[in-house]
Amino acid sequence: MEKFDIIIIGGGPAGLNAAMRLSNMNYKTLVLEKEKVIGGKLNQWDKLFPDFTPAIDVLKYLTENIKQENTQISTSTSVTKIDKSDNLWKVTDSNNNEYLADAVLITTGFDVFDARRKEEYGYGIYPCVITSVDLEKMLETGTINFPIETSDRRRRIAFIQCVGSRDEKSGNHFCSRNCCICAVKQAIEVKEVVPDSDVYCFYMDLRMFGQHYEELYRRSQQEFNVNFVRGRVSEIAPTFDNRVVLKAEDTLLSRPVKMTFDLVVLMVGMNPSEGTKTLSSLLDINDEYGYVVSQDEHVADNLTNKAGVFVAGTCKRQLTVPETMKDADSAAIEIANFLNRR
Ligand code: SF4
Repeated sequence: MEKFDIIIIGGGPAGLNAAMRLSNMNYKTLVLEKEKVIGGKLNQWDKLFPDFTPAIDVLKYLTENIKQENTQISTSTSVTKIDKSDNLWKVTDSNNNEYLADAVLITTGFDVFDARRKEEYGYGIYPCVITSVDLEKMLETGTINFPIETSDRRRRIAFIQCVGSRDEKSGNHFCSRNCCICAVKQAIEVKEVVPDSDVYCFYMDLRMFGQHYEELYRRSQQEFNVNFVRGRVSEIAPTFDNRVVLKAEDTLLSRPVKMTFDLVVLMVGMNPSEGTKTLSSLLDINDEYGYVVSQDEHVADNLTNKAGVFVAGTCKRQLTVPETMKDADSAAIEIANFLNRR
């Protein structure tokens, strides 16, 4: 059975960043990734907020800087079993390979909320209702595909925030943190691709907590004329000409809103991935949603209650890409300290 210093489960930004740091410290590292390619959600995003950095540049940086001779990467591989064997961790993968390691790092990330669960928005039923992930794919091609062709009127596009987050009905009480600023970024990008359009963002609260987020929000209004409406959307219904009518209440003006749109973008929130839920429950380190619980959020945030099992990134909670990278940096330091003490 092959033995590694560290097995990293998940080859997204957190896993690759930790692999880059640890392999450059000359630790023998194995990365197990369940998808066919490494990169995780960086593969689904065109540009990152707030500075429109191409996601591919971040991925390229990580892959180019992993020290190849110290790193083995196995794709299309998920973990089926993980248990302690003497003083080592034994990991079994979906191909029935078994590996031993001094330490394991969980970086299994998140999945986006399944928009079909919000039936009132009609995702999967009305062609002009899409998700932020679908829009990102369009932005990558530089075109917005409206289901209905027209040349005689301005397009109208709506963004609906908090889809599957802060929502009693879907069981997700948390804020996903990324989608307010992502909606602002995407609204600007839509206006750049379709300048002759009117863009509306329907929000509950605007959470512009990060550096330069507030500035981007201001730019979206001052330079791009994006409209922000405070109010939860209650219903979306089809029109006779295959657009949709959106009903909401403008809670600032205390009046109902009913508007027709060519495209509605659902800002889907973050949920623990299936891999995160499986591993956190296998190791009994899960919270009520299935996220991995760290030992102490303030002073031991990359440790878990299992000695030798570490955690980083969005399998723990909702983080931005820069926060994920910094979290993986600190995990690599914790792991190096742990390995040096053995
Ligand atoms: S970041 Fe904004 S859109 Fe996303 S869940 Fe939080 S408040 Fe809602």
